[in-house]
Amino acid sequence: MMRRALCARPGCQGQTAAWLTYDYAGQRVWLDDAPSDAAGDQWSLCAGHAGRLRVPQGWTRVDRRVARPSRFEPPEALVS
Ligand SMILES: [Zn+2]
Repeated sequence: MMRRALCARPGCQGQTAAWLTYDYAGQRVWLDDAPSDAAGDQWSLCAGHAGRLRVPQGWTRVDRRVARPSRFEPPEALVS
């Protein structure tokens, strides 16, 4: 398994904050805090790219991260 410290997106030098796993057969994408043992293509993503992730039409995006980055979301007090 390849472990990378930087975001895999071209041109991005962000620190890896999440791991992306593609299941082409099941048309699912997982986001994890750490590389999983699941078979499939895994990519490292920074917090920004993980948060903006879009999956192909018909695919399912499953966010399994426990500690989700909160600095890209407004504090709850401002949401109401
Ligand atoms: Zn990035």
